[in-house]
Amino acid sequence: MKDTLLNELGSALVDGSLTDKSLLAWTDRPHTMQILPEANVLKIGGQSFIDRGRKAVFPLIEEIKTNLPYHQMIIGTGAGTRARHAYSVGIDLGMPTGVLSVLGTFVSMQNARMLHYLLADQGIPFIEPVQFPQLPLYLAERQAVIFFGMPPYTFWQPNPKVGRIPPNRTDTGTYLVSETFGTRSMIYIKDENGLYTADPKKDRNAKFIPRITVQELKAMDLQDLVIEHSVLEMMENAKNTRSIRIINGLVAGNLTRALNDEDVGTIITAD
Ligand code: ADP
Ligand code: MG
Repeated sequence: MKDTLLNELGSALVDGSLTDKSLLAWTDRPHTMQILPEANVLKIGGQSFIDRGRKAVFPLIEEIKTNLPYHQMIIGTGAGTRARHAYSVGIDLGMPTGVLSVLGTFVSMQNARMLHYLLADQGIPFIEPVQFPQLPLYLAERQAVIFFGMPPYTFWQPNPKVGRIPPNRTDTGTYLVSETFGTRSMIYIKDENGLYTADPKKDRNAKFIPRITVQELKAMDLQDLVIEHSVLEMMENAKNTRSIRIINGLVAGNLTRALNDEDVGTIITAD
């Protein structure tokens, strides 16, 4: 029965140990498929972008609409200042990381809800994790969806190495959507031109880095980064999304340039 039902890999997996390294390496031989290779995941920053209100958000919404005929977009939202306030109250009250993660989820959902209504005239749906199976349909029908960027780890969010803030937040949640669905690109829309040698808001001498590998970036051991550290960790093991881009969404035309694969922002690659 077993021989007829299972191929060689199947038999090895059924009989072997799932902690056996050589067996695990074998599972990587068939290529991971790209489920949505035409789609682009965009992450719209919370603190860095949406919290700036209409001055930042309205022009970007227009640019998204202009690009709808040409590009599929899976749009995730950050959380931002309100989440940081919720974290501070939660920490003061003794809440663990898993509960803080729940709080952050709802703030990124607030942002997704608002952007959703700004795109309502385009018929673009807001989707929660349970609706992700409908993602291909929505993209085929409307070219875009809006979702909240927090990965739905909620109570299952692991503790960070240092402190108590959830380590996997909206940069990570959007990244994982890109990786799992094998999308064409992963674009972070923030308020700086990309990655610098230091936070340009705090260090006037910070130098812009147009392109860098994850390894080089880790070796630099920068004090502060423009994206969550966990994204870099995940990129090292990526099957699909081995490069990401960070752009300044406050500059008109940057999103269009990024969608068209033109030279803009910082590109971080795993290779
Ligand atoms: P988001 O709103 O998407 O969550 P964050 O505010 O968490 O974005 O992160 C973006 C911010 O990171 C930028 O506005 C910038 O001030 C800061 N930052 C810290 N370190 C760096 C760095 N090395 N290069 C660029 N920006 C940095
Ligand atoms: Mg952030």
